[in-house]
Amino acid sequence: MLLKNMKYKKLMLGFLMAINIAMTVCTFILGREEGRHFLKIGRMMMPYSSLNGVMQAVMGLVCIVMVIVDYRRGLMLALLTILISISGCARAMVMASDATSLPGVFSGLISLASVLIISNQFSISDRKRTTDQVTGLKNRNGFEEYLQKFAGSREKGALLYVHLEGVIDVNTRYGRSFGDELLRIIAGRVTNIVGSKGSVYRLEGPELAVVINHEMDPLIVADAIIESVEARSTVNIDDEEINCYINASIGIALSTEERLDPKLVMKRADIALTSVIREHKLKYRVYDEEAARKFERRSELEKLMREGLENDYFYLDYQPQFKTGGKILRGFEALLRMKLPNGEIVSPGEFIPIAESTNLIMEVDQYVIKRAMKEFAGICGRNGNSITLSINVSAKSICLPNFVTTLKEKVDEVGFPAGNLEIEITEYSITDSKDVATNNLRRLRAAGIKVALDDFGTGYTSLAKLMRLPVDLLKIDKSLIDNVAKDDKNRDFVDTVIYLGHLMNGEVIAEGVEGEDQLAILKELNCDLIQGYVWGRPLAVDVAKRIAEEYVKKEPA
Ligand code: C2E
Ligand code: CA
Ligand code: CA
Repeated sequence: MLLKNMKYKKLMLGFLMAINIAMTVCTFILGREEGRHFLKIGRMMMPYSSLNGVMQAVMGLVCIVMVIVDYRRGLMLALLTILISISGCARAMVMASDATSLPGVFSGLISLASVLIISNQFSISDRKRTTDQVTGLKNRNGFEEYLQKFAGSREKGALLYVHLEGVIDVNTRYGRSFGDELLRIIAGRVTNIVGSKGSVYRLEGPELAVVINHEMDPLIVADAIIESVEARSTVNIDDEEINCYINASIGIALSTEERLDPKLVMKRADIALTSVIREHKLKYRVYDEEAARKFERRSELEKLMREGLENDYFYLDYQPQFKTGGKILRGFEALLRMKLPNGEIVSPGEFIPIAESTNLIMEVDQYVIKRAMKEFAGICGRNGNSITLSINVSAKSICLPNFVTTLKEKVDEVGFPAGNLEIEITEYSITDSKDVATNNLRRLRAAGIKVALDDFGTGYTSLAKLMRLPVDLLKIDKSLIDNVAKDDKNRDFVDTVIYLGHLMNGEVIAEGVEGEDQLAILKELNCDLIQGYVWGRPLAVDVAKRIAEEYVKKEPA
């Protein structure tokens, strides 16, 4: 462990070298006395030549230890001592004109062979440890060791983490040999881009690290890498040829500090890459304070959401929905809120996308379903009223095969009337998928639960698919309503959407209605339902329940 540390390695080598220098000096001095003097140890007489032999053997051993400690520097030092020792023996032989020191020469040669063989073995295993077997590039070990060499230096440059999206798909569809070949092609292209002004490493999985020196502009390099990676790659194995298309995301960190801190640079490149992957907006990003702040905030919110599910940081507001003719209450949409222990209220626009990018959203959905039904169980359906409780459910949850079974269990547990329940899903949940989702929608309706298609008009569902969808309500997205009173074109568009909804035998609700002018047009266009600030903002549970109670009293079923 200690010897992995460069400082201790150097100290150890220095110490061993000092021993060897001391021994070399002794052998030189004793070499002059060889053949003439004996050393008396107790009753034992030892010729100086034998003593030299012992010292030479010890030197050989020390040389081997030096190579073990550090096979590169150790080898250089060991070669130096062995050559001096051999020349010492040769000198003694010449001066004394006898061959007493000949065994010393052989012992030196054996030490020489030993250190060369050992260092070669170390070099082979080190190469294996630091090389990626697939691409031939240096791997994470090689990368970290390389950066570590510059720790504390004034070296300037940049580190780029390149994430390759699509390699895993190629592995799954065509087999790993195709994925490996694809990685080799891409590694070759990236290596060509940086040339001698940088180096490329393969980290784990589909990730490369690129280190460039100050002579290269990191943004130009990032552009070039993206262009080369995203160009078509033709992989040819055993006469089978496939074309692969890969996407690249890049996180960049510049070594801006006075002295280079490899760990800090790696962390920054990681943060920059994570924000590129999460935000799906840019293909590359240079680490800056904003990226760091966003990263911190996101990690903090993720932690707080997990905490919040156990410690009740969440609560629900309810926004009323009305029938357009006569402003009659139709029901409420449950909207989640998070109140942190410091009093800050976080909007779902901020925390829901974070939850959606992890599996946390499924726990959040279950929490909302249970809580909303509990809060409205005594009101919805009482005396047969039709007040609808709408609950938003994420794409991930609606794609769970057991979603409907779990929901029905909860409905029974809480004693909520299924006919008063509505599940809102977005177009996105079904465009990308997924027979499971469509099947779940059918099962929901079979259980008497309504289905609403949220944010309609923002997705790309084909009309053919849309017409086949089992939904009861189309919710026209606020972005379309915002423009409805602006010109005829927008108004005609909303008119068509309402027509479509009716063709599907469903109802249509306009979301985010803020102005009287919008309301008047929607009435004219026969939009069935209205939800928006114009008739009601999201309300605290007690207020919403009071409104519902009043309605139930006024309008007995
Ligand atoms: P959404 O489902 O489209 O909800 C409607 C959003 O529009 C709500 O924002 C609501 O407060 C807002 N809104 C309604 N009428 C108006 C209006 O007239 N003007 C304006 N400017 N805004 C209006 P909110 O509550 O911030 O929710 C944002 C999004 O967060 C929701 O959009 C939904 O996608 C998600 N969300 C909220 N609660 C939940 C939940 O319980 N579960 C899940 N999975 N997602 C939720
Ligand atoms: Ca909604
Ligand atoms: Ca919506």
